[in-house]
Amino acid sequence: MILFFGTRPGKTRTAALTGVSCPHCGNKGQLTASSTPNFIHIFWIPVYRLGTSLVAECSHCKRGFYKEDFSSEMKRAVEEQLR
Ligand SMILES: [Zn+2]
Repeated sequence: MILFFGTRPGKTRTAALTGVSCPHCGNKGQLTASSTPNFIHIFWIPVYRLGTSLVAECSHCKRGFYKEDFSSEMKRAVEEQLR
């Protein structure tokens, strides 16, 4: 029996973080957050959720931020918009 097994990302959700200022350039309302869940699948059926990769990008300075770099303001906005 051949077992098809691997990981694949789920559906990416994006949200504009309105009213949140960019930690890099300080402009407000320029950040967009996207979250992509990662699943382990067997025969293309997601069986286990590995975690969610969460990133944000500033459309003004084009800087990307990982979850670890989020300011507390960004984290709060992401939790309100993406959960
Ligand atoms: Zn910026």
